[in-house]
Amino acid sequence: MQVSGQKIVVLGTGGTIAGTSATAGDNIGYIAAQVGVEQLLGAVPGFQAFVHGTLVTEQVAQIDSKDMDVDVWRALALRCIHHLADPEVRGLVITHGTDTLEETAWFLQQVVDTCKPVVLTCAMRPATALAPDGPQNLLDALAVAQMPGATGVLVVAAGEIHDALHVQKVHPYRVQAFSSGDAGPVGWVEEGQVRLVQNWPTALAQKALNAIENIAKAPNWPLVEIVMSHAGASGTLVDALVREGVRGIVVACTGNGTIHQVLEAALLRAQAAGVRVVRSTRCPEGQVIPKPGDQLPDARGLSPVKARISLVLDLL
Ligand code: ASP
Repeated sequence: MQVSGQKIVVLGTGGTIAGTSATAGDNIGYIAAQVGVEQLLGAVPGFQAFVHGTLVTEQVAQIDSKDMDVDVWRALALRCIHHLADPEVRGLVITHGTDTLEETAWFLQQVVDTCKPVVLTCAMRPATALAPDGPQNLLDALAVAQMPGATGVLVVAAGEIHDALHVQKVHPYRVQAFSSGDAGPVGWVEEGQVRLVQNWPTALAQKALNAIENIAKAPNWPLVEIVMSHAGASGTLVDALVREGVRGIVVACTGNGTIHQVLEAALLRAQAAGVRVVRSTRCPEGQVIPKPGDQLPDARGLSPVKARISLVLDLL
């Protein structure tokens, strides 16, 4: 689609960026998702001058992203698709909590087919902090959403631009909480200017179209759980999940996709019973490198949480 317009749509979903604490300057004892998206923009000094067209806001949800669920994802995906279909819209910005940001980014990357940018942003400090990081992140996200040629689902935080595939929250407290590991960021935002060092990510079109139709229709998504392999692991969880009717299991494996022998036996039983089992690694960097004779398929470079989303969408 030709992008003719200059409209930017900012969708609010909550998170620390919209969080407030009773004591000014409290960075951890706050309540997430308190401030509306319109008010968040109002707290960015001079943002109007910065936006080269119209700006529209919409509150899609107001949650702590640790509680992200299927209903919010479905609503968010449908609102994204609705706005992106408008030729007047240049791009989207989504305000979101940091906890599951990478999961929402990966989910949207798979279900939203667009040549326009969808930019998620967040904050590690609540709106009431002495030095909130939300306003600058929001401004940086707007800069990316307006950038000619920008495309794909992106995460902008602490001056860095990450793609949905590689980005991960790697720190529970510091402001620079995200990393793309070995891949590195796609680029940076510096004083409103985007400095790119990699190509913009591309949409996963065909998959997206099927997925979104099924997502919109399916009242319940298939049960897919993550189990971790570790010293002393047992098969108890896996056996219980199979009894519960689990459709898929992602294993956060040790190292290069290795699994404790007792857990592995349970997983092989589950696979034989028809459960889709996928191996990812619990290592924060790198990915499982498959080898001939592997009995359980690997996650093709996805982290456990992203492999879970892909498996859910596959099963849908
Ligand atoms: N728990 C918050 C959330 O994910 C954390 C944050 O936004 O930094 O919504």
